[in-house]
Amino acid sequence: MRIEADRKLDFADVLIRPKRSGLKSRSEVELRRTFKTPHAKIEISGVPVIAANMDRVGTLKMAAALAGHEMFTALHKHYSIPELKQAKISGDFSFITFGIEDMNKIDAVMDELKDREANKICLDVANGYTETFVDFIRDVRKHHPKKIIMAGNVATADMTEALILAGADIVKVGIGPGSACMTRAMTGVGYPQLSSIIECADAAHGLGGLMCADGGCRMPGDVAKAFGAGADFVMLGGMLAGHTENVPEEDLKNLSKNDNMIEYYGMSSEEAMNKYSGGIAKHRASEGRVVKVEYKGDVKDTVRDILGGIRSACTYVGASRLKELSKRTTFVIKSAV
Ligand code: 5GP
Repeated sequence: MRIEADRKLDFADVLIRPKRSGLKSRSEVELRRTFKTPHAKIEISGVPVIAANMDRVGTLKMAAALAGHEMFTALHKHYSIPELKQAKISGDFSFITFGIEDMNKIDAVMDELKDREANKICLDVANGYTETFVDFIRDVRKHHPKKIIMAGNVATADMTEALILAGADIVKVGIGPGSACMTRAMTGVGYPQLSSIIECADAAHGLGGLMCADGGCRMPGDVAKAFGAGADFVMLGGMLAGHTENVPEEDLKNLSKNDNMIEYYGMSSEEAMNKYSGGIAKHRASEGRVVKVEYKGDVKDTVRDILGGIRSACTYVGASRLKELSKRTTFVIKSAV
């Protein structure tokens, strides 16, 4: 046994120190970014916030709505090929998600859809630390050399490097911070998310790769902190749940004045496993839970709040572009309460 004694931080442990700024208005702040991908060697451009690949978040309707704001969606992995084909998705802003057993489906989807609909792949597993997952990324890269691959989740620099070396362009970072996640409670495993972002961004950038901070953002200020810590992309689950674009019609019908709460559940929860895998396998425990979120109507108002918060953070530190936010960020650690 070994203890790492240096303090690791979560979003709630820090604030961004304000700095002198020549900016006159937050409207001057440019949130769009363009990145070069190390393996696919193609550019990815947009406002780098991604709706999570969860079935109550990353829906086709959400992808259409967010694309209008040049924001991204990782579509959940339970869409069939005909559904994806019929939706005529915009490949510019959509990642198509697959699990570790989906090699044949990846090949079929990439064959069936045109390149402008499907050029971004999200490979998602709860635990990105296995050799099998690293081999899987290597295989997908070999089959699809020109597609952008985002893969995860991991939480430390060593494994961020391993996934990039195996063929990932973007590494998804976060073990245990999610709002519907029970991993830390069920297993004791995890890593404080702000420190994870700082360490994994450094590792990814050192290899010319990119990283996506996934999970743990509860409010726009957390998204600003994630970008300030060095994230290239930030993925949101709970903050984008509970909107017209991702609440099932049946649930929308049941809303009333007295009850405007919507169920949102983790993809490893009993609910999700009952729905997609015929229940929880004997050797597993559920590592996700159901949380209730308020129904917030169309996502455009939430988008305005989130992007407004990031723009304002940029003006507080004098960053005229989101790209400069991390260079201009000094975190101050709050005193323990
Ligand atoms: P949030 O933005 O809600 O804090 O976090 C969203 C992220 O939580 C997702 O993108 C995913 O990485 C993670 N997540 C989703 N469902 C589950 C689950 O059932 N268990 C765990 N451990 N993590 C989950």
